[in-house]
Amino acid sequence: MLELENVHAFYGKAHILGGLSFTVGRGEVVALLGRNGAGKTTTMKSVMQLVRPREGRVVFQGADLVGRPAFRVAKAGLGYVPEERRIFTDLTVLENLEVGRQPTREGAPSWSVERLFELFPNLAERRGNRGKAMSGGEQQMLTIARTLMGNPLLLLLDEPSEGIAPIIVEQMAATILELKAEGLTVVISEQNLHFARAVADRAIIIEGGEKKFDGPFAELDARPEVSDAYLAV
Ligand code: ATP
Repeated sequence: MLELENVHAFYGKAHILGGLSFTVGRGEVVALLGRNGAGKTTTMKSVMQLVRPREGRVVFQGADLVGRPAFRVAKAGLGYVPEERRIFTDLTVLENLEVGRQPTREGAPSWSVERLFELFPNLAERRGNRGKAMSGGEQQMLTIARTLMGNPLLLLLDEPSEGIAPIIVEQMAATILELKAEGLTVVISEQNLHFARAVADRAIIIEGGEKKFDGPFAELDARPEVSDAYLAV
């Protein structure tokens, strides 16, 4: 469904992604792992064309996204939840969701406000509250729910477990598994190996903007030297 082919990305002269290649199959949950600064966020932004790769291809459902404006990438069916939460703080939970509404898309699970309230019961209880009255974890959930209102085929979640209370982290893991059960394809970026293992089918480890490992968690477990070298334990 998604294929990165030899992607090179820069910030000014700094060469951040040095020819990154990987694929994500339909219905898979893939975790991008790596230390702080490894290039996980830049990888997601390169998919969304928020960072424009200078070389390489980002092929989504057979079409190269490189060079397209970011809003067209979203229209093609990619949903992106950045690390920093993006909600409208003066709008209510319900209004935040309505703002994200897009037409349904063939092949993608289709979401209504009511279905999302089933998936995120905390949000249902607080549907009339303004965004700014929500905790960090709830804002994170709201950002995900609002992105789902766009009925994406593939969801990119940047560090969903970062900076939220442990109980919400557990709920987040359960939610991602429910999204997978709905047939959504998900890519998460994570530093939390425990969380990644709980939700993902496969791990891709990045270090210095290059891929160092790509395989199931069982294979990663069988090669502890890989985690030792590239993941903060
Ligand atoms: P984190 O967990 O901290 O988000 P990451 O793996 O997502 O880490 P990136 O955010 O992709 O890493 O950063 C990769 C490299 O690019 C880092 O060295 C970072 O300092 C650098 N970088 C990120 N954003 C910019 C920017 N806007 N301008 C210049 N350099 C940047």
